[in-house]
Parts: sequence; C-alpha cells; structure tokens
Amino acid sequence: MTPCLFCEICAGNIPSAEVFSDDQVLAFRDIDPQAPTHILVIPRRHIASLAELAPADTELLGHLLMTATGIAEGEGLAGAGYRVVVNCGRHGGQAVDHLHVHVLGGRQMAWPPG
Ligand code: AMP
Ligand code: ZN
Repeated sequence: MTPCLFCEICAGNIPSAEVFSDDQVLAFRDIDPQAPTHILVIPRRHIASLAELAPADTELLGHLLMTATGIAEGEGLAGAGYRVVVNCGRHGGQAVDHLHVHVLGGRQMAWPPG
C-alpha cells in the first residue's frame, strides 16, 4: 500500500512547515501556495475525505474548523477576510486523499472558483 503523504507528515517522516499542532490536528504551510498565506489543517487520524466522515467525527470536524479560524486570526487575516476550502473527491479537485482544510488569505479571492 502506498503510504499516505499527510499521514507521513503527521508522523514526522516527511518535513513540513508546521504552524500549529495538538493531539488531534496538525497545520502546516502548503508547499505550493495559491495565496500569500496558504495553510492546510488536517486531522492526525487518517480520514480520506469529507465523504468518509462519520457522526462520531462531528467534534473533530468542529475542532478542525476552529483551528482554521484561529490560524487565520493568528496570521492576521481576520480583518480583511480569508477563504476556507475543503475539496472532496475528483470533481471537487481533491489531490491528496487525507482530509484537509485549506486556509487561504492575503489577496482578494474570486468567485466562482475554477
Ligand atoms: P487538494 O487539491 O485539496 O487535495 O490539496 C492538496 C494540497 O496539498 C495542494 O494544495 C498541494 O500543494 C499540497 N501539498 C502536496 N504535497 C505537500 C507537502 N509535502 N507539503 C505541503 N503541502 C503539500
Ligand atoms: Zn493519511
């Protein structure tokens, strides 16, 4: 089985530019930033995508989002605003099959997204 890239980052086997860490989640800078600030927040436990979440994960999902908003605040994005994105599956443009929340800010975002 191919090891999961983000599980490897959680385990410390692949380096990342860490922004925040606790026992449930890890946040690190995206390697290919699409905005001046681009951070990924992931659960430490492997969950492939939003589509794989179970009711028991409700609290974890809340924690992921609260971590994302806390990071946005800490990065000075809250005043001007920012975007939080979760891509899910092929049509959603998900490339890494380990749930992750994108926090993007520092520039004006467009709508609709591509
Ligand atoms: P998605 O398209 O939603 O699956 O997003 C995957 C994100 O992971 C992309 O924005 C990539 O640039 C990012 N990414 C891939 N490999 C790494 C890595 N080793 N460290 C940090 N970010 C990564
Ligand atoms: Zn994983």
